[in-house]
Amino acid sequence: MLEKANFNVILLEKEQELERLSRALNPVQLIILADSYETAPSKELLLDIRRKLCSAHIICLSETLDEELERGLRSAGLIFFGSHTTFLAYAEKIINHTLKSIEYKNMDSRQKRAQKLEKRLARRSFSLKSTLKRASLRITAFMGEGVVRCIEICTALAVTVLFFFPVLLWLFMRKLINAMPVFSSRDIQGTSSETITVQQFNVNNKRVCEIPLYLELFSGRLALVGTAIKEPDNNRTAVEQAYITMFKPGIVSLWDIRKAGRIAHEGQVATEWEYIFKKHPLYDLLLLLRAIPTLLYTQNDTDAPPILHLLGLDINNITMDQALSIIKKHLSTREQCRVFFVNPDCLNKMISDSDYYTLLQQGEYVFPDGIGLTLAGKILGTPLKENINGTDMLPYLCSMAADEGHSVFLLGGKPGIAEKAAASISMSSGVTIAGSAHGYFNHQTESHEIVETINRSGASILLVAFGAPLQEKWITQYRSQLKPHVLMGVGGLFDFYSGTIRRAPRWMREIGMEWVYRILQEPKRMWKRYVIGNPLFLYRIIKWKLFTGSSKS
Ligand code: UDP
Repeated sequence: MLEKANFNVILLEKEQELERLSRALNPVQLIILADSYETAPSKELLLDIRRKLCSAHIICLSETLDEELERGLRSAGLIFFGSHTTFLAYAEKIINHTLKSIEYKNMDSRQKRAQKLEKRLARRSFSLKSTLKRASLRITAFMGEGVVRCIEICTALAVTVLFFFPVLLWLFMRKLINAMPVFSSRDIQGTSSETITVQQFNVNNKRVCEIPLYLELFSGRLALVGTAIKEPDNNRTAVEQAYITMFKPGIVSLWDIRKAGRIAHEGQVATEWEYIFKKHPLYDLLLLLRAIPTLLYTQNDTDAPPILHLLGLDINNITMDQALSIIKKHLSTREQCRVFFVNPDCLNKMISDSDYYTLLQQGEYVFPDGIGLTLAGKILGTPLKENINGTDMLPYLCSMAADEGHSVFLLGGKPGIAEKAAASISMSSGVTIAGSAHGYFNHQTESHEIVETINRSGASILLVAFGAPLQEKWITQYRSQLKPHVLMGVGGLFDFYSGTIRRAPRWMREIGMEWVYRILQEPKRMWKRYVIGNPLFLYRIIKWKLFTGSSKS
């Protein structure tokens, strides 16, 4: 570790070091990522660093950076990239340069300085191949930007004719009747640190309200796809401000898509970093397509009540962060709690299984899992804050447990699956796995022995994966004999973490199609659950709404 002025500088060469750093008490401000790193510097690695060390500056030492990665690094205000050997030769110069340019608040001058140094160093390693490569990258980027601009103008024209003028006419008529203003103005963060004022329609519906934003595409102040639209905020960190002001805010953004799907668990900063690393005209086009299905369930969640009352069950309507804080509190006070997750299939089972219904009602926490619950919330007029399922919660839960010194016991799945999942969970989060056991023991005769094993392990968190409602019933039956403080029913989670069953890619989850992926993976077992279960669930929700009228407790 090099100490330089007030900066904490790290030469990162091994994977484990990143894990260690992410748990360090003093924030690391500058990471030198060496090309002798176990795995070559990649987009995934940089993303991982971003998630774990949000505010750190990175200097990446590699001669094999692709265009996408380079753009990501630049956006972070990163100044130099080159080989490990060059770094050793010019270490002092490079570190000084980076530290100096970090002091520059103005990204333009920071970038100019970066380009100057880069050019100077590039001259030393001139080759025909690299010059041709650079030229071809520039031409592709230029053409890509041209195509994007054409799409933006066409979209702006279409929205203006089809939506802007009709809504404008309607709002003018409304103004004549009740004198309500047609527009409201809003200040947002533009590029290069400027604040821009945009007009919105003065209506409650978010989509209709934002129609005038499409007119900003003509002037180019907003992009069709970009970083999320944000309020100007002077309290942002320098790094955050740097990336925010380098990219145009977009009417469509990765953050908004994930927010609509209620799966933006990483938080805005990490999500925006992810977008910046991936930004490319083709990626933007795919984001645009992904945004279409989210129109179905986009809903403003600012006034969401803490309880979603659905089919007679009270479901906790909170964020992932709040759920983790609650669990953390139970771990520290040693007050035992049961944590259950419900998806449409669970709620369908609950209707015909009164024991399951009773124990869900009595469970301390019931969290909403899946796009079906987001849609139900929309139909019932109670927006869901976040989709909280065991698979998404596990990495956060285990990192928190590792930090707090708690261990986990894994119970369930076919023989060998819990062990495999345990190995992958402990490797990725650093949590201590107190023990594991499969779920195909005789539940009538062997449960006491299993309870003994769990208690002897000293685990604070017990994850039970028998599928619903078996796991909830088992937890409830043995909870007074079980010593762990947090008892959680997690369904097929070990199958995912052991690699036995692949989870749907993130983009499919974003558009609410994870269930399609599950049917494709296990058609025989899953078709009935989803093909019949999903419409049945929605029918029940609509019926419930007609009879009760609301879901607010
Ligand atoms: N399972 C088990 N013991 C049993 C029955 C099932 O351990 O007696 C396991 C099964 O191997 C699978 C999980 O429980 O890993 C149920 O997964 P499923 O996908 O049905 O759960 P979901 O996530 O859909 O609730």
